[in-house]
Amino acid sequence: MMFSMPNHWREELRLFLGIVLIACLAGALSGQLLLCLLLGLLVYLGWHVFQLARLPRLLAQKDQQGPSPVGLWKDIVRQIREQRDSSQSRRLDLSYELDSYRNAVNTLPDAVVILDPAGRVDWSNPAAGNLLNIFWPDSRGRLLTDLAPDPVLAEYLAGGNFATPLTITSPANRAKILSIFMAPLDHDVSRLMIVARDITREYYLDASRRDFVANVSHELRTPLTVISGLSEQLNMGEPDPATLQRSTGLILQQASRMSELVSDLLTLSRLEMQQESAADEPVPIAELLTTIVEEAHTLSGAAQHVLQLDIRSPEGLRGNAKELHTAFSNLVSNAIRHTPNLSEVTIKWLVDHEGAHLSVTDSGEGIAARHIPRLTERLYRVDASHSRDTGGTGLGLAIVKHILEGHEANLEIISSVGGGSTFTCHFPPERVTSL
Ligand code: ADP
Repeated sequence: MMFSMPNHWREELRLFLGIVLIACLAGALSGQLLLCLLLGLLVYLGWHVFQLARLPRLLAQKDQQGPSPVGLWKDIVRQIREQRDSSQSRRLDLSYELDSYRNAVNTLPDAVVILDPAGRVDWSNPAAGNLLNIFWPDSRGRLLTDLAPDPVLAEYLAGGNFATPLTITSPANRAKILSIFMAPLDHDVSRLMIVARDITREYYLDASRRDFVANVSHELRTPLTVISGLSEQLNMGEPDPATLQRSTGLILQQASRMSELVSDLLTLSRLEMQQESAADEPVPIAELLTTIVEEAHTLSGAAQHVLQLDIRSPEGLRGNAKELHTAFSNLVSNAIRHTPNLSEVTIKWLVDHEGAHLSVTDSGEGIAARHIPRLTERLYRVDASHSRDTGGTGLGLAIVKHILEGHEANLEIISSVGGGSTFTCHFPPERVTSL
């Protein structure tokens, strides 16, 4: 195999031999060979020192006038320039990547904070201001425990066990609930990354789901206790006909209460599952209300309520006839159940430039102002025992609200204790249809 010498070595060798040759010639001519060789070597050494001295300028490419480097120096300068250029372009790439990561983190709705080993803020994104009271760059260098003074958070931070996320109220807004996740940074475990997520909605949904399950269980347990108690009594001996009749009557009553509750629960769950109103058909409201009034007469029975139907407009509604029937008859049956015998209940249908309005007005017991905003909550009742006596499940108005939402409508409640109540469903003009 042939050995091939790299160019720069060849050049270097030529330079060296050239100097030695000149020194030899000068030595031969002068008879001072040794001195001339020594001088030649000094020139060679001086050339290298000169190249070393101008290296920084050569690298900065400021030295345009001087001789261009040859031999080994040519290669050294080339190699250093190449390395410098590649590290410069890597630096540019890295800073571009860092900028894009920062921009991505800055647009996150979650708060992201980096803490130094002393627990001071090193960096944070804009969401950290809204959620944790940490503002970049003003909060830089400040202790997390000063900016978000929460004893639970401080204890969690000091404990160092971040396996399960922490739930706290936001130090920036007490109405918000945060889930806090902490982890040491991969490349520098002495620094911590904190991610705070706003879980207010999930938190309250979960709480309301838990309350709802507890309330429904309670509602079902009461009639079940009555039914099992009475059945046990009947089972124990030979009841006389009067006791038998009374007990079976009570059992039937409690069973029908349970079945009503389960049926309302199913209606509600069906309504909650469907995103939009199932049908969009023209519904003749005057006809629908006439049917509801007939049913209400049956419900009122011996109580003989006076039912007034006041149809002021011939138009109907675009919507789901079955659902609208359920919503309106819930309002009418509420009015009957909460109004004394023989008193008046008025059902009015009116269309104007703002839309369509169905109102049910009674002259009953009325509702205190503090209860009104909560009436459409599932199982909320002003007086639970009274409502049970009058046959309510506590789900009626929640069902009404859902049905109205599916028809882009809303429910207005005007009431005062002892002054009766008016429940009005307001539909947008787009829902009105002439039949
Ligand atoms: P319920 O089935 O118990 O009537 P609703 O959801 O229909 O449940 O109503 C919730 C509560 O609102 C009732 O328990 C009752 O206290 C109150 N309420 C509803 N309608 C009337 C009304 N017309 N007059 C007085 N109170 C009413």
